[in-house]
Amino acid sequence: MIVNGKTIHCYGCGVCATACPHKAIQIVESNEGFWVPEVNSALCVDCGICDKICSYTYEEYLVPNDRFDDTYAYAVVNKDKETLGKSTSGGAGFAIATYLRNQGYTLVGVKYDIEKNIACHFNTNSIEEFKQTMNSKYIPSYTVDGFSGLMDGKRYAVFGTPCQIDSLRRWARLRKKEDNFVFIDLFCHGVPSYLHWRSYLKYHLRENEKLLEPVFRDKRNGWHAYTMSLKTDRRTISTRLQKNDFFQNIFFGNFSLNKACYTCKFRGNQSAADLRMGDLWGGKYAKDESGITGVLALTSKGLEIIKAISELGLCEVVQEEESVVQAGQLHHDLPVPKTREALLKGFREEASLPLLYLKYVRRMWLKNLVPYRIKCLIKQIIYTVKKK
Ligand SMILES: Cc1cc2nc3c(=O)[nH]c(=O)nc-3n(C[C@H](O)[C@H](O)[C@H](O)COP(=O)(O)OP(=O)(O)OC[C@H]3O[C@@H](n4cnc5c(N)ncnc54)[C@H](O)[C@@H]3O)c2cc1C
Ligand code: SF4
Ligand code: SF4
Ligand code: SF4
Repeated sequence: MIVNGKTIHCYGCGVCATACPHKAIQIVESNEGFWVPEVNSALCVDCGICDKICSYTYEEYLVPNDRFDDTYAYAVVNKDKETLGKSTSGGAGFAIATYLRNQGYTLVGVKYDIEKNIACHFNTNSIEEFKQTMNSKYIPSYTVDGFSGLMDGKRYAVFGTPCQIDSLRRWARLRKKEDNFVFIDLFCHGVPSYLHWRSYLKYHLRENEKLLEPVFRDKRNGWHAYTMSLKTDRRTISTRLQKNDFFQNIFFGNFSLNKACYTCKFRGNQSAADLRMGDLWGGKYAKDESGITGVLALTSKGLEIIKAISELGLCEVVQEEESVVQAGQLHHDLPVPKTREALLKGFREEASLPLLYLKYVRRMWLKNLVPYRIKCLIKQIIYTVKKK
């Protein structure tokens, strides 16, 4: 949200920079390591478009014209074993992309830029090239290049986080181009800081060792294992959440998220997309180690796509209760850890990652663990007394 040329609050979606007709906005990295707009007041004519299309400006998500009152929910698994192995969850994302490419849509998604060490959106008509989007890049994507030119009247299928998709649909609606798009977003936990990501790379990579590919959710130890792998020109470095991986633990512990992610309004089925995807690994799927995507079809356009990938044999699709697909997803705001700022400062000052972890993350966990254990003990005593 930009007011009087100043960014007041921001998700970092970057759409304002692409939508500004006077090229007055640049997306830059903030001192906390997130994408933020920077306005050149010499170029700004105060037209207000950046504010109109900004997902942060509005309290509610933008409702698609064909949005259902009820949500259709599915468990989806890609039938191609290679795609399933490389995807984060069940590979529904790539099946949806394959189907929509065959329908004439240009595909817009996120790849890892190995030269800049950032995640970025790009668009392509090549399904081969789109394979680079498989597997979530758990860092904020730079959208400006990938989102440029999308209002040219052609058809686009865009994958992104809910805040990116909401702003993009607002811009498409403003330009009366909404019908040209299919929007696919994700159940979104949040994005961690680039300060954190660079600190992690620095910790693992030796001098002159070149990163070739990060795999944020490598399935080599099973889908539930949360393995992070860095493929380099010398070796593959793999660590797991449960074994104190410094990226996964700090990210999933919510210590390095963008400020706006802690109070994000896009939880549950709050979405401006046609389809929403996430991990489906609770209940009867708890023992699956290959991966399943939980999908919500939110609009008639989204529902048609799910039916098509099933009928064409691209995926195994099972209809589920929405509560099954939503189990385990975030439905509330997250508290901002007291140590977040100190941790980010430590990253900025290039302090040792293991020391930062011990000081600002592990100790906090222990601090929270003791009151939690006491609470459990009190509950247990009350239960035993009542039973008597
Ligand atoms: C930052 C982030 C947070 C997430 N949080 C959750 C969560 O809390 N709960 C949950 O169930 N699922 C979450 N997901 C989604 C999950 O990781 C899977 O992407 C989803 O289950 C679909 O899996 P898939 O196997 O069908 O496709 P995938 O192989 O995961 O591909 C899906 C699409 O994700 C897009 N993508 C990859 N990285 C990014 C990025 N940085 N920004 C925007 N789009 C991206 C790609 O373009 C691709 O088209 C998150 C994803 C991201 C990127
Ligand atoms: S459009 Fe996106 S990047 Fe621009 S101010 Fe709004 S949230 Fe921030
Ligand atoms: S008010 Fe208009 S010209 Fe100024 S930055 Fe926003 S979109 Fe660009
Ligand atoms: S949690 Fe919300 S604000 Fe943060 S990246 Fe996801 S959709 Fe955007």
